[in-house]
Amino acid sequence: MSLTRRTAAELGELMAAGEVSAVEVTQAHLDRIAEVDGKVGAFLHVAAEAALEQARSVDARRAAGEALGPLAGVPIAHKDVFTTKDMPTTAGSKILEGYRPPYDATVTARLREAGLVILGKTNLDEFAMGSSTENSAYGPSHNPWDLGRIPGGSSGGSSAAVASYQAPLSTGTDTGGSIRQPAAVTGIVGMKPTYGGSSRYGLIAFASSLDTPGPFARTVLDAALLHEAFSGHDVMDSTSIHAEVPPVVEAARHGDVAGLRVGVVRELSGEGYQPGVLARFQEAVDLLESLGAKVTEVSCPSFTYALPAYYLIAPSECSSNLARFDGMRYGLRVGDDGTRSAEEVMALTRAAGFGAEVKRRIMLGTYALSSGYYDAYYGSAQKVRTLISRDFEAAFHQVDVLISPTTPTTAFPIGERADDPMAMYLADLCTIPANLAGNAAISVPCGLADEDGLPAGLQIMAPVLGDDRCYRVGAAVEKAFQDRWGGPLLKEAPAL
Ligand code: GLN
Repeated sequence: MSLTRRTAAELGELMAAGEVSAVEVTQAHLDRIAEVDGKVGAFLHVAAEAALEQARSVDARRAAGEALGPLAGVPIAHKDVFTTKDMPTTAGSKILEGYRPPYDATVTARLREAGLVILGKTNLDEFAMGSSTENSAYGPSHNPWDLGRIPGGSSGGSSAAVASYQAPLSTGTDTGGSIRQPAAVTGIVGMKPTYGGSSRYGLIAFASSLDTPGPFARTVLDAALLHEAFSGHDVMDSTSIHAEVPPVVEAARHGDVAGLRVGVVRELSGEGYQPGVLARFQEAVDLLESLGAKVTEVSCPSFTYALPAYYLIAPSECSSNLARFDGMRYGLRVGDDGTRSAEEVMALTRAAGFGAEVKRRIMLGTYALSSGYYDAYYGSAQKVRTLISRDFEAAFHQVDVLISPTTPTTAFPIGERADDPMAMYLADLCTIPANLAGNAAISVPCGLADEDGLPAGLQIMAPVLGDDRCYRVGAAVEKAFQDRWGGPLLKEAPAL
């Protein structure tokens, strides 16, 4: 079997057994990138030389008898919103074109410590704002199932890279759904850890109370291995949780739902959902029951207000976070010809450097936070946020996990929602509640919708620090579906 078709766990074992070198594994993935990324557009930057160098060092350490972790030598695609000191970091924005950070994000540093080989940086919606990668200043990425469709967003380069076998693993960030939604529409696994379970240090901020780094992979076990490699307490992030990483790898190895209480969220289905997505979801519900889970319907009434609350809170935080991009410190500077004031240069730089969606959110957020409107908008949204957390708490008294479709539709055509922000925002209807409450949530593939043959995702939500439950249930579902499908859902990247 070609090295690019292997899972990360298999590659780790092959390298540990000396059957293949990290350089060979890396070269196979660089060759795949050269072969298909012209069509997919997953990468903004491919770091071939640095990757081979890292692979050589892993091989040398192994040859010297050093004990290495399970992912040493495994290639990974890294979302271009994490700082990397040896590669450009753009956050998908013109305002950071050519920016080379002087430091590594904690996630980046931990990938390197685990011996993972960073192949390059992946495309995203500008500053992670979007659900399709169409808001990237560098053009969209394409879904490997159908190149005319979106690979989800904002981490769409990362989902497309894994779904097209350019990398077995990738990183993402999930503020409102940006890992789970792209995973669902490309037929792979994507996990949003508990907020504060993975470090935000060196992650270019969008909405700081929501941003959460997490893994993409083609299997639940691979996602867990990556989750474990970069998560855990970090003194550099004041919101990092002081607790052990939940036993995610153990859980992924022992998928089991017998006796588990599963709640179907009543508010996350019905009108506006694609019939094929609902049909696959119902099959997953039946499957869980057949595996011994006790499935009941649970009502979380405040979830209905999650989307509007999110679109006040996230833009408010972004308007504050993005104030630092002023053309004075780093990145783009426009109009500095000696005749203009600093304020004029700032205005010209921001006008030229930010795209339409980013400007829309900065204006929305500035308005929501302005004196006289603060209580009516931002204050109310924060109250809704509390109600959503209470809904989760009440639900988790009745059940162990909650489930829903990950996203209401399969991958939509590129361009279809590009000029309709409200339609774009609906892609995150089911994922946003877990962000507002800080819970753990995963998306695993649950089949192909009948009407278009495109992947649908099952979302499994667990309490704060219950990340292992997501993996335990995800692994059970994955195994049962694979038995039924006769192998993984993603057997080939169909459009390539
Ligand atoms: N699509 C949502 C937004 O545009 C979520 C983005 C994200 O999770 N980074 O805000």
